Amino acid sequence: MKGADGKFIPPFWPNYGVVPQTPKWRASNCTLARLLAIHRRALGSAIAVAVEIRRGIDELTPLMAALCSRTCRFCPDPCCIGNTVWIDFRDLLFLHLLEEPIPPCQATSDPGDACPFLSHHGCRLPPRIRPWMCIQYICPTQRAVLNRKGRDTVAALLGKIEGIEKKRVRMEVEVVRRIKRRRRTSPSSSPASSG
Ligand code: SF4
Ligand code: SF4
Repeated sequence: MKGADGKFIPPFWPNYGVVPQTPKWRASNCTLARLLAIHRRALGSAIAVAVEIRRGIDELTPLMAALCSRTCRFCPDPCCIGNTVWIDFRDLLFLHLLEEPIPPCQATSDPGDACPFLSHHGCRLPPRIRPWMCIQYICPTQRAVLNRKGRDTVAALLGKIEGIEKKRVRMEVEVVRRIKRRRRTSPSSSPASSG
């Protein structure tokens, strides 16, 4: 999508104003989207890793939802209020590379305040676009529930999480490497000829 100035605007998550968009966040995401758009043709392998991450998150989501359904409803100290979370750079790369909707603002809140995306029915954000630190979080209560299911179940779940974590690192490394390489070889980065 293009804005009034003709410049590319990434797809922001349409939350219909429930969670207001912050100008600084919007500007940062527009800048990142434009940078990635310039180099998009060189980012095929990073996009392929992002697709694998998305597949991993889609597999993880029902497992974590099942865990939450057993623990979260009666939680005396919900982590979406007590913990400080944020959308990190790898989260943003993942969303931008796959052209997924971008949340309208950071997830951070002042200590003791609820995350801006928390509603009476849980997280407003669709699972795929939540911060990774939220997607993979297993609180002590959930850990106890998991442990009762046996070592293999715990190992399988942790293995999936670790696998996605490694891919996130790979995706970032790949993006940085490709963009650096293109900048080095781009004619505009060569010294201007004299005369
Ligand atoms: S994940 Fe754990 S800490 Fe967070 S709301 Fe659920 S039970 Fe509570
Ligand atoms: S983004 Fe969603 S899951 Fe993460 S802290 Fe906020 S409300 Fe909770």
